[in-house]
Amino acid sequence: MERAEPGNRRPSGPTRGEIVDGIASELELAGLGSARAEAERLVSSTLGIPRAEMITGRAERVSAAEAVEIARATSRRLEGEPLQHIEGSTDFRTLVLVSDGRALVPRPETEQLVDLVASRLPTNRPVPRALEIGVGSGAIALSLLTEDIVEYVLAVDVSAAALDQARENAARAGVGEGLELRRCVPEIWPGLEDERPFDLVVSNPPYVATTDIDGLSVEVRDHDPRIALDGGPDGLAVVRSIIRGAPDLLHPGGRIILEIGSDQGPAVLDLLTADGRLEACEIAPDLTGRDRFATALRRASEASPK
Ligand code: GLN
Repeated sequence: MERAEPGNRRPSGPTRGEIVDGIASELELAGLGSARAEAERLVSSTLGIPRAEMITGRAERVSAAEAVEIARATSRRLEGEPLQHIEGSTDFRTLVLVSDGRALVPRPETEQLVDLVASRLPTNRPVPRALEIGVGSGAIALSLLTEDIVEYVLAVDVSAAALDQARENAARAGVGEGLELRRCVPEIWPGLEDERPFDLVVSNPPYVATTDIDGLSVEVRDHDPRIALDGGPDGLAVVRSIIRGAPDLLHPGGRIILEIGSDQGPAVLDLLTADGRLEACEIAPDLTGRDRFATALRRASEASPK
């Protein structure tokens, strides 16, 4: 085996393995993410190679120009920018979505929201019409369409930047006329009554209480759009508005499905049951067992018994 001796032949640069080890200890010191996995991803995405090659190609040397690029990506991560923004994309179910500061980085829980929708909608697929409140990156709407769960989604957002990102993601996913993206006003509902009825109203609304935002991780607090997180004083301002407005837009038997905060289950169940126009109100957990989703059906008739 060849050994580099001091003063002997100078190596052209550090190996991938050495760089990964260095970044992993920096990230660990900074208390950021899963240090080693993230270090491997920072290096592999900068080099444009599959992550597997970070294992098989640990001994490969990195050029000076590549080392500069990697250092740049690492300092962004050390400043708290989410890995998904640095890589520029993120996986969501079957999709690869553009990821940057224009919309919330889609989370694994929201992948489960799509499973919940798929499990609760009628089995006759695709279901004709859905309304999504707060489309963000487009993760939910594009999954519903590309997985043939829903035929048409009208997806609204108050944020023009998020709608731009969703439009880009739709183009990447090859989704065309099944999706209509529309800017809505903060009050959400004006104009939407003309579009009813829907079979589904789905949303991952902002649900963090304003005063809790400062306590979130730096990646979320400083890099996700605040408008996608801030649910007002108790976190439920937008949830309340959706539960107030959605039933009138649903077919009798149509379904509402929301993502909620893990401590909001009882309060949201109360809101759903108190409404009077909804039945089969239910809170469902995420894979960690925490309350994460709320769902209910629009009653067939408002006068019918519970
Ligand atoms: N789940 C997000 C978090 O990290 C909040 C997303 C939202 O408000 N919809 O807290």
